[in-house]
Amino acid sequence: MNSWITNWNKIKIRVKQIIKKQPGKDTESQWTKCSCQEIIYKEDLQKNLHVCPKCEMHHKISCRDRFNITFDEKIYTILSTPQPPDDPLEFVDQRKYNERLREARKLTNQNDAMMIAKGKIKGIDAVCGSQNFKFMGGSVGTASGEAFIYGVQHAIDSNCSFIFFTSTGGQKMQEGALSLMQMPRTVIAVNELKKNKIPYIVVLTNPSTGGVTASFAMLGDIHIAEPLATVGFAGARVIQDTIKETLPEGFQTAESVLEHGGIDLIVPRKNLRDTIGSLLSILLKKKESETTTENVNVDKHEEPLHKTSKAV
Ligand SMILES: [Zn+2]
Repeated sequence: MNSWITNWNKIKIRVKQIIKKQPGKDTESQWTKCSCQEIIYKEDLQKNLHVCPKCEMHHKISCRDRFNITFDEKIYTILSTPQPPDDPLEFVDQRKYNERLREARKLTNQNDAMMIAKGKIKGIDAVCGSQNFKFMGGSVGTASGEAFIYGVQHAIDSNCSFIFFTSTGGQKMQEGALSLMQMPRTVIAVNELKKNKIPYIVVLTNPSTGGVTASFAMLGDIHIAEPLATVGFAGARVIQDTIKETLPEGFQTAESVLEHGGIDLIVPRKNLRDTIGSLLSILLKKKESETTTENVNVDKHEEPLHKTSKAV
């Protein structure tokens, strides 16, 4: 009597299972799909540092994956950064901000989009920060702001270089003005790095946009980008709708930003650790020679150049 209903329900369940098993849809599947349509075995993608073997697309990665790629022998310590209140504005849009946070934490196994760690890169002590785009688009709120400032302070206190890997859409709308306040705060922190002559290298990964590129991400001593990363401020569609003009091909790709002088280098992920290590050794030698020159000046009872003379 109800056999057709039973059959129909069985068919529905089977269809749902098939959809779930599609590469890229199911988190438990062993396969994933790149935007070039290539179906890749997840383990192979991981071995290839999450870079598609066919189209060279550099896939987004978690903070821990980034640290594993960056630090010598995958040895590093994750720093415990300050934890401000989760939802200061009790923000609700289509869903509660608290609910979104809970979901992002479960998905990424991170407390916030930003993490800070300390270790060695090619034998040089360094503090590294990284953003995970899967955590609410890598958006910066008070927790990320506090993490960045903590990382900078730790680099200054331990006199080691600061490297930051961006992957973000910008500031977090759920924290309104509080998230915008992280822009000047992080800029002040970068200024402290400069005052203390701590090398600061920024690696822009896909995508790096919004308030982050309008603040700490574009203030490095050296700016590196991963191939094909989107680097910009406002989205291309918004710009196109505003200026009513068709944007050139490759607009806001790392390659076009490099051509226009916005960044210094494009480095594939597999070469990043070596490149950062070489750059750090050059920057630290420069710092060392500057410090030696200043000490000589002090010995000669000359006022060092960077000191402001006191008013009498
Ligand atoms: Zn691909």
